Amino acid sequence: MSLVCRILKVVSDNPLLHIHFEIPFDRVRAEHVEPAMAELLADARAKVEAIASDSAPRTYDNTLLALEKATERLDYAIGIVRHLEGVATYPELRSAFNAVEPLVSEFYSGIPLHAGLWKAIKALDETHPELTPARHRLLTKTVESFRRHGADLDDAGKKRLAEIDVALAKATTKFSENVLDSTNAFELIIEEEKDLAGLPPTARSAARASAESKGVNGWRFTLQAPSYQPLMTYLDNREIREKVYRAYSTRASSGEYDNSVLTADILKLRREKALLLGFRDFADLVLEDRMAKNGASAQAFLERLEARTENRFTIENQELRDFASFELEPWDVGYWAEKLRLKLYDFDEEALRPYFPMEKVVSGMFDIVGRLFGIRVVHKPAAHVWHPDVRYYEIRDEDGRLLGAFYADWYPRESKRGGAWMDAFIIGLYDPPQSEPHAGTICGNLTPPVGETPSLLTHREVETIFHEFGHLLHLVLSQIEVRSLGGTNVAWDFVELPSQIMENWCWEREALNLFARHYQTGEPIPEDLFQKMRRARTFRGANAQMRQLSFGIVDLKLHREYSPERDGDVIPYSRHILQKFSAVRLPEDHAMIASFTHLFASPVAYGAGYYSYKWAEVLDADAFSLFLEHGIFSREIGLQFRGNILSKGDSEDPAVLYRRFMGRDPDPEALLVRSGLA
Ligand code: ZN
Repeated sequence: MSLVCRILKVVSDNPLLHIHFEIPFDRVRAEHVEPAMAELLADARAKVEAIASDSAPRTYDNTLLALEKATERLDYAIGIVRHLEGVATYPELRSAFNAVEPLVSEFYSGIPLHAGLWKAIKALDETHPELTPARHRLLTKTVESFRRHGADLDDAGKKRLAEIDVALAKATTKFSENVLDSTNAFELIIEEEKDLAGLPPTARSAARASAESKGVNGWRFTLQAPSYQPLMTYLDNREIREKVYRAYSTRASSGEYDNSVLTADILKLRREKALLLGFRDFADLVLEDRMAKNGASAQAFLERLEARTENRFTIENQELRDFASFELEPWDVGYWAEKLRLKLYDFDEEALRPYFPMEKVVSGMFDIVGRLFGIRVVHKPAAHVWHPDVRYYEIRDEDGRLLGAFYADWYPRESKRGGAWMDAFIIGLYDPPQSEPHAGTICGNLTPPVGETPSLLTHREVETIFHEFGHLLHLVLSQIEVRSLGGTNVAWDFVELPSQIMENWCWEREALNLFARHYQTGEPIPEDLFQKMRRARTFRGANAQMRQLSFGIVDLKLHREYSPERDGDVIPYSRHILQKFSAVRLPEDHAMIASFTHLFASPVAYGAGYYSYKWAEVLDADAFSLFLEHGIFSREIGLQFRGNILSKGDSEDPAVLYRRFMGRDPDPEALLVRSGLA
């Protein structure tokens, strides 16, 4: 065989080059990645050029639809590679992914800056074409998105924008390195066992192992969450708690890893970028295509919740002070709250595990969504999975029509990243009677089976399964004629509604009775255990809420109001805001903002977007109240949710979709009730 023939064979065998509904994960190898991406990038570039240079009159088909199609194969292939790198990686795959990833991102971020393409899209817009609502929305969103990415700037403006983006990437990378380095610069070795009093055995053995790994005697503690959290919650020794708290709350605020100037620089760059693009501030730039629409409405939302939480917050803090019977410092709060929780509820989360065997939880969840949404989830033997633990399922409508399929991969492996997530591989087009099915995956790192014992989950893990499955339903039930508006491609502050609402079924007796059964006896959760679990849910609910509100408000004030000339150093400015939301007086050197990676670890990150956590909670609690009112298995409300939310993707404004489902705008009352604050 000649060399040319062999190359041709490798290329045509490359499983990344063709879209298959049953994705051949088992055939994708590291050596396929670079050749496939080279070909797909060249193909996508050529198609983009062809759109820009097309001299025919502008139509939806030859402009926007053509642009959607231009990247379809590339989207598919990079999605598969990224997924495999996350769930079944090995050195060759990782380096192949790292080699292509920057080229692919560069291609995508170059699209809005392509002058010819922008001209074509504007020309289409100017024809005021008659379009279906979804296609019209795609046009509007594309025009806005190109503008937000600088398509309308002159050459000097584009140059400055590129400089800002480079500077932001540099500053935010440095910010997160400083947080990491200053976190790692701290260690505390406890040498006397008596100083460990109060600490649970798991935390002790982790501290022991950490000391051994460093070749030191005693117990080693760090500022990483798995070490820091138990220490602040359980350790009796108050002096040690104070020392560790102070180290934690002053990370990256002085010396070698100081983020104070960097934080102000990042804020300044973001503001300049927003002004350059014609926005009042960075919050308005980021929120333009979100449900909140702008910074002012997000901030007003948080401030209204704050006003509704303050009362209960004061009462909770007084209760804790009375219980401890002295004036608490920040390093006392978690510790005394845990003591109070034990006194009131004496609730051990581990006691629930035997009632949550994985198989039953999953089949019970399928039962619930079947009742609600009129769908059937069927397990199928999988042919081409990336690991033998992976399960493959089909979801069919009541009439038997295939809506989609998904892979479930629940257990940890060394070759798999942490956390839990849902991913879409194929977003099918809605075009009855030939609508295409969707394909996606839900992944997690849940408690695996051990020997003869099946996988027994914590309640939090059960919520995780329901949560990710909610995202999956948003994909699989989507019926949209525009691919890029389908599935979970919705506004950031709307995307958690379908997922978080599912968690509510994990707290209702009727639903739990379907799937929470003792793995040996088949008994449901005993009533007293269930009651304790419910009551513990609202314990110090106002404090939990004020903490989230404080982060959301400091985020918005920094991105909307802060001016270094007027307000001075960013650390005291932020501390002053946070103080109002704290149960106790914050120390003078408290500098949490300097390590707030959520906001500052990448050019956009959660900047001006932290409010979305609370926003989504308001939506899910409010929407679930309709199920509570009509019965948690109500098919009528289920179909209403499916029809107005789950099937609609981003084909309409999320506020409109929500209003159509609820018959009104979101109301925070249900969240306040659920958190014990009403
Ligand atoms: Zn989620």
